[in-house]
Amino acid sequence: MAYITLNKNNFFNNLDIITNKTKTKDKVALVLKDNAYGHGLIEVATMAKEYGITKAVVRCQVEADAIKDFFDYVLVLAEIPSLKSDKIRYTVNDIKTIKEFPRGTKVELKVDTLMHRNGVDISEVEEAISLIKEQRLILEAVFTHHRSADELTSEYFTQNENFKEVKKIVLECGFTNIKFHSANSASLMRYDNFDEDMARVGIAAYGCLQSEACDVSGFKAVLSLTAIKNSSREVKKGDRVGYGATYEIKEDCTISNYDFGYADGFFRSLSNNYVTPHHKELIGKISMDNSSFIAKEDELLIFSDARVVAQNIQTISYEILTALKPYIKRVIK
Ligand SMILES: *Cc1c(COP(=O)(O)O)cnc(C)c1O
Repeated sequence: MAYITLNKNNFFNNLDIITNKTKTKDKVALVLKDNAYGHGLIEVATMAKEYGITKAVVRCQVEADAIKDFFDYVLVLAEIPSLKSDKIRYTVNDIKTIKEFPRGTKVELKVDTLMHRNGVDISEVEEAISLIKEQRLILEAVFTHHRSADELTSEYFTQNENFKEVKKIVLECGFTNIKFHSANSASLMRYDNFDEDMARVGIAAYGCLQSEACDVSGFKAVLSLTAIKNSSREVKKGDRVGYGATYEIKEDCTISNYDFGYADGFFRSLSNNYVTPHHKELIGKISMDNSSFIAKEDELLIFSDARVVAQNIQTISYEILTALKPYIKRVIK
């Protein structure tokens, strides 16, 4: 079966760059949502713990339960719990949902500072805080999310200004030890002097941050994918390969079929439009469970940097990575 290799040295290299910005490992909340961006939830949690990361961010309860023993702090971004928990904090994304959280739940209030996706409006912050008190929830932090920290526009600064206003409102409500965080990977890398309580870092840790607004040159991709040969054959000039006969062989050669297809996360739109890091050409349509290349190797490195794959089909590395099915074996090297 095709397998994924996780390069621990690269992961630690990326965490070094990140902790250099936050100045302490304790301020790094590693984002592990969606199977750790396709890298493997438990595998990444294990490596992160070894490195000394103490905080994690996930999407839902199932993910939080799977990794809570690896960390001191877990933030759930998008699920209202049925029970309170000591280690797990939950996000308030909408003022109307506050009454659904069980009493005593630790919560973090998300504020919409421009993105208009999730979070309460700035004008609702005071009311949200009093509803949180009324429901006897424990408000530990207030946070926001950037919509374009990776782009060189003024929006990043506008959101920072809006979040400053939010901080003022919260402090005026009488909180003294509330925490604030707003930075994702791209935002963290734009700081000269990081001064927030925590950064929520995903893509940079996995080495695939792309941004015109900060230096990303030191990051190294953590995940690579290798497929195993199913069969080989000799083909002649003019032969056609695969469904719909979309690829015509240019000169006599050996081609092979490998066990990585669209069902595993190999985007079909890459058909006839991809070359591996070792210059092996993908030919014909990608099938459900396999794909063909002009290659002979028993094992073929399909990709070692999701950014390159993403570029061919005008998407982002996040989509390429999270498409990789959880059943693919992950090996830490
Ligand atoms: C996914 C996510 C992040 C991580 O973003 P990266 O760009 O991968 O660093 C941070 N915060 C929130 C709320 C997210 O949903």
